[in-house]
Amino acid sequence: MSNFELTYATMFDPPEELHTRYDEALANARSLSGTEYGMIINGKESFAKHKFKSHNPANTEEILAVFQTGTAKDANDAIAAAKAAFPSWSRLSWQERVILLRKAAEIMDERLFEIAATISLEVGKNRMEALGDIAETPALIRWACDEMEENQGFVVQMGKDPLVGYNATNYSVLRPYGVWLVISPFNFPAALTGGPVGAALVAGNTVVMKPATDTPWTVRLLAECFVDAGLPQGVVNYVTGSGSVLGKALVDNPDVDGLTFTGSYDVGMGIFRSFAQGKYIRPTILELGGKNPAIVSRNADVERAALGIVRSAFGLQGQKCSACSRVFIEEPLYDQVVDRVVELTSELKVGNPTDRSVYLGPVVNSWSYRDFLKFTDELKEVGTILTGGEVLTEGSFINGYFCAPTIAADVPLENHLWKDEMFLPITMVHKVESLGEAMALANDVDYGLTSGFYGSEEESQWFFENTQAGVNYANRPQGATTGAWPGYQPFGGWKGSGSSGKNAGGHYYLQLYMHEKIQSLVE
Ligand code: NAP
Repeated sequence: MSNFELTYATMFDPPEELHTRYDEALANARSLSGTEYGMIINGKESFAKHKFKSHNPANTEEILAVFQTGTAKDANDAIAAAKAAFPSWSRLSWQERVILLRKAAEIMDERLFEIAATISLEVGKNRMEALGDIAETPALIRWACDEMEENQGFVVQMGKDPLVGYNATNYSVLRPYGVWLVISPFNFPAALTGGPVGAALVAGNTVVMKPATDTPWTVRLLAECFVDAGLPQGVVNYVTGSGSVLGKALVDNPDVDGLTFTGSYDVGMGIFRSFAQGKYIRPTILELGGKNPAIVSRNADVERAALGIVRSAFGLQGQKCSACSRVFIEEPLYDQVVDRVVELTSELKVGNPTDRSVYLGPVVNSWSYRDFLKFTDELKEVGTILTGGEVLTEGSFINGYFCAPTIAADVPLENHLWKDEMFLPITMVHKVESLGEAMALANDVDYGLTSGFYGSEEESQWFFENTQAGVNYANRPQGATTGAWPGYQPFGGWKGSGSSGKNAGGHYYLQLYMHEKIQSLVE
């Protein structure tokens, strides 16, 4: 695999060895089924009175592993451990921290297949999506290390003030805040935990990470990579339990100095508001939902557009924040594009996500499954289902949360489903008279995460100028609105999709984890 670099844009034709190694790792992961995992607080295994089991969404009778139902006390213990570890970790030179974080990234590379198999079992991701999630994690960590190095630890000599009879030296240095909380979502449990954790750590903060209740296993394996890299006790802590009890206790603890939350708009805004009740304002990085549009001009390449739309609408069962959930097509190409999108969609294979040929696995849990039934019922009532619209329950689908990829048309523009994030394998298509009309509709949502366009080069520049989103693609068959990679397409959102306006894996992100200190010395 020496010449193959796995990214979301290259994953369509991987070398054979990748499949063999994934299959071996999958068999190994299955042999560990039922193992109980503790939390990691101050470098030690920590067990709670109550436990919860994680299930395979492709077969809910399969118990994957057993985890601790962490309490408010566990939250506070983890934060106390991170607080105690902060002075010595933050005083290490940035070069020493970079060495340790690169070591963690290397361990993740070594355990790539093991963690990918876990992601498939726990989230229901197909094998390539699962490999992408974990491969992106060390890429994000290395990116943060490289940024630290390129900026020489963010120590900058400033001008000398014109003092007569004195010599002054002025330095600007960026320093870490303290204890950083990372709360992650189920859909990218590796990259969206490990990425922010890596940035926070290399900046000199200590960390408490809390995964989604659906994905504690992946994040446990990730936490082990950081521990095994030799990070001192308490620098990185891992706690498990519900958002409403454990998560709330973490957010409410006054010793948290900053946080990165990735998840839904509603939960994120709730956290933002309660975190603001502290004594002073603390950095709050929120990466929230999306309602991502693709616009197809009358000058588009139909095949590219159709491929990109289908891949982005249904990759990971539409459970990506960047999923393409709205498609606006100029009238002259409408029928052609829609016919091809429907054709490609009906060819997608739904099934056990660990099977090599499967594109769509199950949705993650019973709530998502119920939402799918609710939304498709509504779409049938107000519009037309062009393909899909059903849950799959026969044969091997019987014990999983399988949903057919669904395309809806003729849905009135006033309907709330044009604006609400469904987070499911459902996309909606609409005919427009002009690109101006398409852009007005595309931007008329509270979200602004990603967007896609197919058309001429000149139109593409117009699209880049006018779209209101953090990550934008033109003429990309690999994905209309999905497939970002650190260093190539840094990822983050505008409007209700993100709080910082600076994208992860880009040039302005690591600085969010540090505050500036000016050191002015007069001799
Ligand atoms: P979610 O329900 O908002 O949960 C996200 C995390 O918050 C989970 O760890 C959850 O724990 C925790 N949580 C819930 N309530 C909490 C509270 N009161 N206090 C503290 N923590 C709390 O989101 P999800 O369903 O896991 O993920 C899907 C959402 O994430 C979608 O909206 C998607 O668009 C968004 N997302 C955004 C990005 C981005 O980069 N912008 C990337 C990926 C996903 P429990 O699981 O225990 O409830």
